[in-house]
Amino acid sequence: MFEHTLNHSTSSPARLSRRVAAMGLVALAASLAACGSGSDNTNAGATATLAVLETTDLHFNVRSYDYFKLAEDKSYGFERTATLVRAARKEFANTLLVDNGDTIQGTALADYEATISPIPCTQQLSMYKAMGALGFDAGTLGNHEFNYGLPFLNQVLGGGLEVDGVDASKKCAGAGFPMVLANVTSNKTKKPLVQPYTVLERTLTAKGADGKEVKLPIKIGVIGFTTPGIMNWDKRYLEGKVSAEGAVEAATKYVPELRAKGADIVVALLHGGLDGAAYSPTMENPGLHLSKVAGIDAMVMGHQHGVFPDTAATPGFNLPGVDHKAGTVNGVPAVMASSWGKALGVVQLALQWDGSKWTVNKSASKSELRNIQSKNAAGANVYVDADPAVAPLIEPQHQAAIQYVKTPIGQTDFRMSTLFADLGDPGAIQIVNQAQQAYVAAYLKASLPQYAQLPVLSVSAPFKSGFQGSADYTDVAVGPVAINNAADLYLYPNTVYAVKVNGGDIKNWLEAAAKRFNQIDPAKTGEQALISSFPGYNFDMFTTADVQYEIDVTQPVGSRIKNLSYLGKPIDVAQEFVVATNNYRATSGKSFIDKLDGSGTIWASPDANRDVVIDYIRKNPAVTRAANGAAKSWRFAKASVAGPVVFSSGANALAVAQAAGLANVTLLAADDGSGKGTSKYGVDLSK
Ligand code: MN
Ligand code: MG
Repeated sequence: MFEHTLNHSTSSPARLSRRVAAMGLVALAASLAACGSGSDNTNAGATATLAVLETTDLHFNVRSYDYFKLAEDKSYGFERTATLVRAARKEFANTLLVDNGDTIQGTALADYEATISPIPCTQQLSMYKAMGALGFDAGTLGNHEFNYGLPFLNQVLGGGLEVDGVDASKKCAGAGFPMVLANVTSNKTKKPLVQPYTVLERTLTAKGADGKEVKLPIKIGVIGFTTPGIMNWDKRYLEGKVSAEGAVEAATKYVPELRAKGADIVVALLHGGLDGAAYSPTMENPGLHLSKVAGIDAMVMGHQHGVFPDTAATPGFNLPGVDHKAGTVNGVPAVMASSWGKALGVVQLALQWDGSKWTVNKSASKSELRNIQSKNAAGANVYVDADPAVAPLIEPQHQAAIQYVKTPIGQTDFRMSTLFADLGDPGAIQIVNQAQQAYVAAYLKASLPQYAQLPVLSVSAPFKSGFQGSADYTDVAVGPVAINNAADLYLYPNTVYAVKVNGGDIKNWLEAAAKRFNQIDPAKTGEQALISSFPGYNFDMFTTADVQYEIDVTQPVGSRIKNLSYLGKPIDVAQEFVVATNNYRATSGKSFIDKLDGSGTIWASPDANRDVVIDYIRKNPAVTRAANGAAKSWRFAKASVAGPVVFSSGANALAVAQAAGLANVTLLAADDGSGKGTSKYGVDLSK
């Protein structure tokens, strides 16, 4: 930590920024007084390490807590990243703590403070309050900062957004640290919406050429960039009010200005990551190109929720110019610290003082990630302890958010479960498909008219299908549906993706999904297990009357989908469709069909599938079996099998199968002998 950095937790945000600025001036004045012209030739040759510490995509995860499951989850949470920050400050004499955006949205607590019980102007957003305990030096805005509209953003940043529909003079609590954003302009002022960059004046603890410790001033330029995609994703809030340009264009304009203002070094906060494509001003992840803009000494990245440097974790980041060993992008030290506070990014910049300014020795610099989760010698997960200072700061708001997620948003007249999803019950899957379909169709109509003529379909899968035992099924009881039930309906924090495929692709996609089943030998008289080791979360299925097909489990993998039809006619292999799915399937589903390697994606939405499901239930609160849980797209092709075909599911749940209209299922044994608390069932494939 810098020698003059204050105990931020006791300062109001407004006072904090004034005091930090004032202290910076004091430090600079001191150096001017000592050296006359701002140069310090007596210390030429001094060296220092500045550790740039990055959080990114925190998504309002202050606590290690899953508001959907209403349970602690130690694998994420800023309260643990905070411990890593404190450790880094002990380790390094000079640190700069920056946040890379996607900070104010992402948990039920975020929604609670933005829309359910909007936080008053005088009160700091809980995320910023928690960050204040650590004292951030600067931050930028991610795409999700725009999710609640510009008036809310103006409020939580403390005012000053000169843009139509916003009272810029409103003075509110603010973030507590300066925000910078160079590539979003207010249409009203033709100027950047928030300051494009800032120059932080600090004092470094350095090592003189004689080996002795020496204090020397530094001006650190910090500049920020967000995804131009905000103009599409939050069109309803931003159209006509602000404009976004590419990061490279903005950097080319402002980095020289920053240098001219005396910045010794420039740190770029890019709310974006790495993509091997040629540059375009609208590209989402322009890190490879931004790194080539002259004058950028370090780059912190994000948005992709990926990790860098890490050779193994993100194959997509193995691109020309990207060096995982050195932790550089085209020679620029860089880092991407995952998401949700799972990691702290650390860039150690090796600085050299020439008597008047600092320069970065890039080849002597290095970057790394420090994770809150690791494995011990026995292979078990271990977690960094939570910083005890963080949780108490937001406890009343945390409890209020828990009450909020327990609040009903709808009502279901049937038990929505995946207990018999493998047998064709769409009861817990159809509403997910309906929500995804409606969301993608509306977006195409509004923002991607070139695809608006194509039919929009949706696939989803039984994410919870018994792998962990009898409790591992989606199971929403008849009665009120609350927000936390949406986590049961959609287990993973995926985001909605739309892919363009043809009828032939759909058949192949379903063939891959049908690996869920073992090949059944009709002649075999002994017992045969129906379900293979292929995970349930990969068993993609349609749940609509429009798409119909049979799965013939007597056939080998690749030859099982029969009588595939669309609107009552055999599907045309050449007809184009848009299919709503999730980011994982769309980008790493090459084992299903080639186009699911990312190349078929026409829209990578910024919204979580789970949030889309919640929205859908809010708009359609009367959930019924008839409307939301009875549309079977598939059934097993009829087959006479000599012996029993069996499978396991939840204990004594035959009534669930019967309520779903599955007349071919029987209960064979209350205990299937697996030790998982599940029962053994049979299926008569001839029915
Ligand atoms: Mn994000
Ligand atoms: Mg983002």
